[in-house]
Amino acid sequence: MDDWKQILAESITKPKDLAKHLGVDPKDIEHIVGPYPMRITPTVLSTIKAKGDAIWKQVVPEPVEMDDFDAPADPLEEDTDSPVPHLVHRYPDRVLLMVTNQCPIYCRFCTRKRLVGKPGFLKKGELDQAVAWLRAHTEVRDVILSGGDPLLLPDHLIERILKALRGIPHLELIRFGSRVPGTLPQRITPRLCEIVKRYHPIYMNLHFNHPDELTPEVKEACGRLADVGVPLGAQTVLLKGVNDDPEIMKRLMHQLLLARVKPYYLYQADLTRGTNHFRTSVETGLKIIQALQGHTSGMAVPHFVIDAPGGGGKIPLLPDEYLLNLDDHGAVLKNYENRTYHYPQPVEGSDQTRSRALPMVGASVPGGLCGSGTMDD
Ligand SMILES: *Cc1c(COP(=O)(O)O)cnc(C)c1O
Repeated sequence: MDDWKQILAESITKPKDLAKHLGVDPKDIEHIVGPYPMRITPTVLSTIKAKGDAIWKQVVPEPVEMDDFDAPADPLEEDTDSPVPHLVHRYPDRVLLMVTNQCPIYCRFCTRKRLVGKPGFLKKGELDQAVAWLRAHTEVRDVILSGGDPLLLPDHLIERILKALRGIPHLELIRFGSRVPGTLPQRITPRLCEIVKRYHPIYMNLHFNHPDELTPEVKEACGRLADVGVPLGAQTVLLKGVNDDPEIMKRLMHQLLLARVKPYYLYQADLTRGTNHFRTSVETGLKIIQALQGHTSGMAVPHFVIDAPGGGGKIPLLPDEYLLNLDDHGAVLKNYENRTYHYPQPVEGSDQTRSRALPMVGASVPGGLCGSGTMDD
């Protein structure tokens, strides 16, 4: 058996093992792991420092998961948007392909809590069916392998899927969405990297929620993927008691960049049944973006999005302070230090350098944007 399979098999999945390692009373969680399975890999277990800390909350089942009856099981209505089994088609030019329901860990806040943990990978016939659909839909140029976690598939199945997808002429990008590098870094073997490298352009968006997840071995695993030319992005879920704090979030973004991972999305938690205790107010996310934008590397600022309940897709949110006014004359802008600037609109049919560069309203008009575009002499 490959090392990583052995390590995955040593994960905690049973309430009694959890009792042994983390001092939880198995009676409190036995009724939870049936409907909502648990798995905690050795890497994740070793990063838990204290009961109830940010890593613990993500993976240890809580009785409150079973008290949440009102929220929908499938808030994004993915099941409704599925033309053939395992495909979700919501946007014009890209689709999700769910290749497994298995994950290295079962996040307690998972949007696909209704599905994950069931055994089995995408079967040959199901792959053929998905590929046939993709062949017929020439508008699709981007396929996202998801699940579950696609990197839990054995090498030969990953290769089979990549090969089948690369046989579709109009398909441009293949992406993976994965929590494996952060939770089972041993799975990022040289052999896997060699396979992935043969099917470029391949992108990966990795899931990270807290700076403590970026251990040295996790950073090395990310490095191995980056070394074979895979651009790495990060998806982060905003979670109450885990990362709903600008300072923690800034540390996470910095650790990601050190691991050669570019923050991509910060998600408002979905409305999924059994996960309500993780939700924060929308303002919490806006304040975090405000605390990052301009205050640290632009590379460290993800897009803050809400995946609209009812299947509307991801909708980006920005703090509304940046654009104070916009009309024919120009934009009145506020920067990260709360200073106000004016950017004049170009003037139709005239020498733009003599545009309506109006003096700024309010007090502070440093030589920033106002001066630009008026170098007429
Ligand atoms: C997130 C998502 C995508 C990919 O969206 P991008 O904004 O391109 O990253 C595609 N399909 C579905 C159903 C999604 O939820």
